[in-house]
Amino acid sequence: MEGMSMPPRRLALVTAPRSGETFGSWLDRIARVNQCPPAEVAQLMGLNLRGVSAEVRPPVFGVRPDEAVRQTVHAATGVSGSLVDGMHLSVFDGGPLNVASVVSAAKAHRPSTGREWVEAYGSRACPCCLLVSGGVWQLWWKLSCAAVCPEHQVVLVDRCPSCGWVLRWGGNRPRVVPAKWIRPPTCCANSVNGKPCSQWLPVARASRARKSMVDTQQLWLDIAYGRARPTLGGVDVPAEEWFAAFRACVILLRLGLPRVLGRLPGVSDWCSRVLLDELSERGVDRSRFSWGPASARAAAAFLLLVVPLLAAADMRELSRQLAPLVRTAADEGSLAARPLARLAVPKLFAEAVEAQVPVGSTARSPWKKGSIR
Ligand SMILES: [Zn+2]
Ligand SMILES: [Zn+2]
Repeated sequence: MEGMSMPPRRLALVTAPRSGETFGSWLDRIARVNQCPPAEVAQLMGLNLRGVSAEVRPPVFGVRPDEAVRQTVHAATGVSGSLVDGMHLSVFDGGPLNVASVVSAAKAHRPSTGREWVEAYGSRACPCCLLVSGGVWQLWWKLSCAAVCPEHQVVLVDRCPSCGWVLRWGGNRPRVVPAKWIRPPTCCANSVNGKPCSQWLPVARASRARKSMVDTQQLWLDIAYGRARPTLGGVDVPAEEWFAAFRACVILLRLGLPRVLGRLPGVSDWCSRVLLDELSERGVDRSRFSWGPASARAAAAFLLLVVPLLAAADMRELSRQLAPLVRTAADEGSLAARPLARLAVPKLFAEAVEAQVPVGSTARSPWKKGSIR
């Protein structure tokens, strides 16, 4: 009928999505078995990948599927709407992500590089996972706190060792998914001067992760996926509030660098170096203090310092452990920093911070009523 869009054609060959896989990865794998570029598969699925111009990518690809996407994907592949939902970042909404902010940032055409604590287009990756899975990209690798692979105990890789671009970002002519070439799931395939980068990612060098890193990442992931109940100072809190407290600690740490390192007990040389490196990247502009960790290594360092702190046995202990962070930020005169005040931290966390504001100083807790915003 005139004016009606064609119903999506059923794809000849469909591979089943794998556990925890990201939507873009699944698209790549289907494209490969059908021997065509991923953009063609997307078109057959009825997905509109055109942004307002060639340089602009559509805001919600891989972030949140709407009903139309669920239906066209189901018609083309037989894969259910709930499986499609599971391949989108929306599974982390109300936990480590606020999906409404991710969507609005993307709609404003601001490229995501950690502002919303996620890499909407690119990804980190475990080279060992890519090898054993034949190129299944995990959804959680896109999160800014993705640091180490709990299974293979390595630090995730941020960038392609060959072209230097963030993995899956798209290279110097980024598109949502390649329109001209098949993207082998285990290869970089970022666009470099109009050609796909041929780096085979399973050979990318990944450094060994220590057991403590693996454990903190595992706990963080369990909370992110709703498998573990988050607690703050021994008290059960909703996941959203736990992640807000986590972000607050990351910001407090950044505000107190480098001095805070000498005041925290048992910070390794590795951790200090990584955090100072990150500061020179994020700290160019103080408003970026509220962004996610800039690399897998930085994410590992923040996880190591913050997760055990939040797991303090009771409120007194939590407050005591927060002391070096709060006092250093107060000394630097930045405790009322805007990014902190904006976070919806749980009341008990705000009180634990408040208790450590030095008596007689002009500093005020960022969450105290009447404080300067
Ligand atoms: Zn792995
Ligand atoms: Zn590359």
